[in-house]
Amino acid sequence: MIEALRQLVDSSGLLTGTDIGERYLKTRGYGTAGIPLCVVRPKSTAEVSNILKLCHVHGQTVVAQGGMTGLVGGGAPLGGEVVLSLERMNKIEEFDADGRTLTAQSGVVLQAAHEYCDQRGFMLPLDLGARGSATLGGVISTNAGGVRVIRYGMMRESVLGLEAVMADGTVMTSLNKMLKNNAGYDLKHLFIGSEGTLGIVTRAVFRLRPKPKSINTAFAGLARFEDTVAFLAYLESTLGGELGSFEVMWGAYDEFVRQRCPSLRPPLNAGQAFYVLLETLGNDPARDGAHLEEVLANAMEKGLVADAAVAQSEQQRAAFWAVRENAGEGYRALGPLCAYDVSMPIRSMGDFGERVDASIGKAYPGATTLVLGHMGDGNLHVVAAVGSGTPETHKRIDDIVYGIIRDLGGSVSAEHGIGTVKKDYLAYSRTPEEIALMRMLKRTLDPKGILNPGKVF
Ligand code: ZN
Repeated sequence: MIEALRQLVDSSGLLTGTDIGERYLKTRGYGTAGIPLCVVRPKSTAEVSNILKLCHVHGQTVVAQGGMTGLVGGGAPLGGEVVLSLERMNKIEEFDADGRTLTAQSGVVLQAAHEYCDQRGFMLPLDLGARGSATLGGVISTNAGGVRVIRYGMMRESVLGLEAVMADGTVMTSLNKMLKNNAGYDLKHLFIGSEGTLGIVTRAVFRLRPKPKSINTAFAGLARFEDTVAFLAYLESTLGGELGSFEVMWGAYDEFVRQRCPSLRPPLNAGQAFYVLLETLGNDPARDGAHLEEVLANAMEKGLVADAAVAQSEQQRAAFWAVRENAGEGYRALGPLCAYDVSMPIRSMGDFGERVDASIGKAYPGATTLVLGHMGDGNLHVVAAVGSGTPETHKRIDDIVYGIIRDLGGSVSAEHGIGTVKKDYLAYSRTPEEIALMRMLKRTLDPKGILNPGKVF
């Protein structure tokens, strides 16, 4: 197999044995990886097709990899697979200002795509903390979310068309560029969010948006969960669609930042029950900042918001976002972590925060439980540190968190996918009929089961 693969790529396109670096072996999430047969790094769709044709004939399993920033083990080899890394397929192929589209290969790093669009007055709205490593193919395969979903939707909403190589090597080119195309089934959705189990995405056409002319960022402190819900509704009704982010942090997260993250500077005083980081994306730089300040003043007058601050410079804006995104030093100080990405109806979030904190605290007295996330999207992240990181501990806390999610009718995965880490809990959020249809699609598109085996279900 290795010798046959070697014929299909150039001399640096195949890695074996000790040449296989760490980056191909693990993701940032927990769960350990197995040793793959080899790593193959094609440079074109034709090469991907030839590799899959060969693997299909021989029943050889294949794991596609992007930037390896996933948190559920979706890209990690379990043992014996051919790792197919798209890292060398990193060309931006076409930019169309009139049609507002970008066509690019899967291995382009998200941040590089952002910069390319920014220089041309446009934006690819999907944005997340791992932007410097995550690739376009990876964020498509996982239907990634991030911090601007409330305004622009998840990755699915920004993909107009794509090209995927099927399990048997067939190239399915569907590089649609129109916003409207109802000519039969919308096949791209089979590949978006299916974590490399139904095909390997090689290229895509993205929908671009005009770059906003003004960005205004604020921090608000609130006393009650009901106030955060009412505040979000108030902002949506007064900002006329300009709201780009609405991130909520529970009070315990603020305390954690103050105690464990000395390099971060929370802009408001301590002691609020909830903190909100919000951002508007507007088109009137002379007016937008003043308008946001006025809206916040009104929210304070109404008693929704107890305290607020608007960033007055790009430096302050970065400092506000750092409180939400850059708590890595604090997390490391907490010891082994269990981290969660879940979604639920917005009205259930206050209840969820209380129950998850109380239940983990009861099972592990002295535990640190932090809740924060993209409230506008119904998506929360939970970080729990209980002093142990054994598989048994993970399972016990998984059972607690996902049990509450099942009670609330939520989802065990909001934006990270299922991979291997959440497989056991898929049925908490999906009916037997839904899972049966997923399996039917899998058998139809990949009858030999060679694409990313052992993931999702
Ligand atoms: Zn997130």
